[in-house]
Parts: sequence; structure tokens; C-alpha cells
Amino acid sequence: MDTPNRRRIFLRHAVAAGTAVLTSRVAAQGAPKLQENDPQAMALGYKEDTTKADKAKFPKHDPSQKCSNCQFYLGKPTDAMGPCSVFGGKQVAANGWCSTWVKKAA
Ligand code: SF4
Repeated sequence: MDTPNRRRIFLRHAVAAGTAVLTSRVAAQGAPKLQENDPQAMALGYKEDTTKADKAKFPKHDPSQKCSNCQFYLGKPTDAMGPCSVFGGKQVAANGWCSTWVKKAA
């Protein structure tokens, strides 16, 4: 049964969830840029340019792997920079890369 009350409750939850996602994205867009010399960035081999990734340290790296096609990238693929959930929402380069890269689900 789909009563008007159930629909109202469902819609309220859907709106609340959407607002939470939007709020976190807006907050993340004001986040600072991740620096390559940040200790966590260095530990994960982050580079602003994927072609500059350390081949010796990360032999499985491929230049086609970029933040913009990573599962943890929260920006739009067309943005030059976007927040990364691995680095607490700090801005990473769309063309960047780190060893946590995971292909974004299609
Ligand atoms: S986790 Fe993904 S989006 Fe974040 S810096 Fe690494 S490759 Fe880029």
C-alpha cells in the first residue's frame, strides 16, 4: 500500500538526503588545494599531473588513470579541480593521480 503519508515521509527523506549531498559538495568546493608535499599526499604518491607519477614506486600506474575518472573524485569530470574524499575533501587536480585510484563505476 502506498498511502499519502508514506509518500510524504519518503519524499522528506529523499529531499533531506539530497540536501546533505549538496551541502557536503558545496563545503568541499571551498576546501584548500591538496599540495604534493602534504604528508598524506606524499605517502600515496599524489601528483597534480598523472604523467609525473613515480613509475618505479607504482609500476601498475597507467597515464589513463586520472582523478577525474577515479571513484573518489567528487568534482565534475570537466572541472580542472575537484574535491577528493580520500583527502578529506581537499581539491585535487582533475588530471592528477594517487595510488588509491579506483576506476569510477560507469
Ligand atoms: S583518490 Fe582518486 S581522486 Fe583522490 S587523489 Fe587519488 S586518484 Fe585522485
